Amino acid sequence: MIEFELTEDHQAIRQTVRDFATKEVAPRIKELDEKQHFDRSILDKMAELNLLGVCIPEELGGAGFDYISLGLVCEELEAVDTFMRVVMSVHTGLNSLTLYTWGTEEQQRKYLVPQAKGEKIATYGLTEPGAGSDVVGARSTARREGDEWVLNGEKMWISLADVADNFLFFCWTDEEKRRRRDHSGMSCFIVERGMKGFSSGTIHGKMGIRAGNTGYFSLQDVRVPQENMVGEEGEGFKIAMFALEQGRYTVASGATGVIRASRDASVAYALERETFGTKIANHQLVKQKIAEMESDYQMCHLLWLRAGWLKNEGKMNARETSLAKWQATVRSEKAASMAIEVHGANGYSNDYPVERYLRNCKAAIIYEGTRDIHTLMQADWALGLKKEKTARRTLPPWRPAETREGVAAG
Ligand SMILES: Cc1cc2nc3c(=O)[nH]c(=O)nc-3n(C[C@H](O)[C@H](O)[C@H](O)COP(=O)(O)OP(=O)(O)OC[C@H]3O[C@@H](n4cnc5c(N)ncnc54)[C@H](O)[C@@H]3O)c2cc1C
Repeated sequence: MIEFELTEDHQAIRQTVRDFATKEVAPRIKELDEKQHFDRSILDKMAELNLLGVCIPEELGGAGFDYISLGLVCEELEAVDTFMRVVMSVHTGLNSLTLYTWGTEEQQRKYLVPQAKGEKIATYGLTEPGAGSDVVGARSTARREGDEWVLNGEKMWISLADVADNFLFFCWTDEEKRRRRDHSGMSCFIVERGMKGFSSGTIHGKMGIRAGNTGYFSLQDVRVPQENMVGEEGEGFKIAMFALEQGRYTVASGATGVIRASRDASVAYALERETFGTKIANHQLVKQKIAEMESDYQMCHLLWLRAGWLKNEGKMNARETSLAKWQATVRSEKAASMAIEVHGANGYSNDYPVERYLRNCKAAIIYEGTRDIHTLMQADWALGLKKEKTARRTLPPWRPAETREGVAAG
């Protein structure tokens, strides 16, 4: 049975996040954005509210809520600013849900539990200076020496690169397969900031998400034990794609929050501003913009909810999640741009939030699969040229705490 009503738990978590974001972050966000200042204390507060492990089971240090709750958290956070949703995307979506699904019991105990509690912050390192969409174009490598792996490589455009404690690092473990561009030669490792040979930096001059941290990290002969390999040797590409499926879900729900925020800001302004002797809300072309924001919000909300429901049920959802991510991000850009126009010249100044929405939302059309990549994937699915493949591990379905025994096994 499909339920369109949010449960009491859903409503409670949505209200908690809305109160936090609107009361504690919204009043300071203009300044944080202007100063390009990443305020670590906001992460501490998110951890206190159990947001960083919201959909990780309690026995693994999380809050035990379902995947729809994760979407609600992202929609509420990004309705105020993208940087907080990015934290959820890389820490919870891309990293923690990967360890929850692919990690060994030991990896879950050592890395996932402190991440779910918010004691350690985690991110995801796939992109390199020379390889983004073309994942197999990566250059990073790992070579085996006894029970250890020696990791080398440069990762670029990594959210929280200069802030996170734990990193997923994707690289080639088979040089021959790298030359043939055979992705079964890629593997995934857990790397810690404190490891010898690790360094990181921050990228300055970004168009948006200026209150957030985006950077690079470099590994020079970093030695990790075999126990830090996630999945089996050669499963790195599949794990990277699995992680993106969870990250895209958070991006979709977050971008839906940008559409809602654009609509709300436009409605408030349109009911106040007067031209030609009447509120601008009475001009039909202003109404049209608000109507489009409203319909885009409702559509995108339903698209991510469907993806979340499929995740709760443990059903395949790559196609639905890709559609939700693609549509929400593209429509968030349209909504933010129209919101600026509704505000006239005022929308062009940071006295109003809508210009920040536009600067922030552009990146989501680029990361976790560009607009072009999702367009092509959706066409290929529709044409029957692309099929969803089952992997060795799939995201565990959500179970309420009392019936969850056994689901979290690594
Ligand atoms: C703010 C921000 C945060 C990020 N955070 C992370 C992170 O935490 N971790 C991480 O690993 N990465 C992260 N990224 C990187 C992001 O995932 C990549 O930028 C993205 O995958 C695109 O890769 P690229 O920039 O190399 O562009 P390219 O892959 O070089 O693409 C350039 C253009 O060519 C088009 N194109 C490329 N290939 C094709 C094709 N086959 N068909 C049609 N068109 C194509 C693209 O759509 C795009 O328009 C982040 C990026 C940004 C901007």
